[in-house]
Amino acid sequence: MDALKEGAQSLLGLDLTQTQVAAFQLYANELAEWNARFNLTAIKEPRDVQVKHFLDSLTVLKALPAGALRVIDVGTGAGFPGLPLKILRPELRMTLVEATGKKVRFCEHIATRLGLEGVRVVHARAEEVGQLSEHRERYDWAVARAVAEMPVLAEYLLPLVVRGGGCIAQKSKDAPAEVHGAETALRKLGGTLERLIEVELPGVVDPRYLIVLRKNAATPAVYPRRPGLPTKQPIQ
Ligand code: SAH
Repeated sequence: MDALKEGAQSLLGLDLTQTQVAAFQLYANELAEWNARFNLTAIKEPRDVQVKHFLDSLTVLKALPAGALRVIDVGTGAGFPGLPLKILRPELRMTLVEATGKKVRFCEHIATRLGLEGVRVVHARAEEVGQLSEHRERYDWAVARAVAEMPVLAEYLLPLVVRGGGCIAQKSKDAPAEVHGAETALRKLGGTLERLIEVELPGVVDPRYLIVLRKNAATPAVYPRRPGLPTKQPIQ
């Protein structure tokens, strides 16, 4: 776990404890084992798992305020960024949403193996979850990595957070252009762009970005629209 430890120190000023390192080691081992059976993620090299999955997920901490926040990770896949965030910040109340069953089962398995409390895994689509009173406007922050284009992602995330809450989208090099093309969608959904944070991962050439949104008005009840529609007809 040296690449992760060094990166956490240089990029985030974090000294991972032995317990945290052991948790990431177990996570990496389970991921490798499950990947051999089901294709959960394309990133398989141990160093890449440490940097491109774990460390990249942890960069969300650059934008996430302190406290026992209610966080929802939409399209979590094999748990990114939600589970690494939970390992570092056990006080977070973490809900993971994922549409694919085998990924849901993997996340449940990891949460159990790591003894993480306060993790809930929901097998559903973001469009459904955003219309359930149990989830709608019930979170302080919504996060997502590599799930959809900005207008689509904003339609998934903004309905889930309380007014005054925020969203963090992890994006690759096209983030600046994407976010400017999504201004109308953000306005319609009750959000504004708060910050664009550039992140450089060790040994990775392309820059990464955190797009930080603030929810400043209620999201109209029609959003999110029915499953598939946000992608088919992005708000513009
Ligand atoms: N966030 C993870 C996975 C990214 S891949 C990571 O960064 O590694 C995108 C994931 O989002 C896939 O697992 C896919 O099943 C899920 N997904 C895509 N659209 C979704 C939706 N509308 N609702 C729930 N999950 C969705």
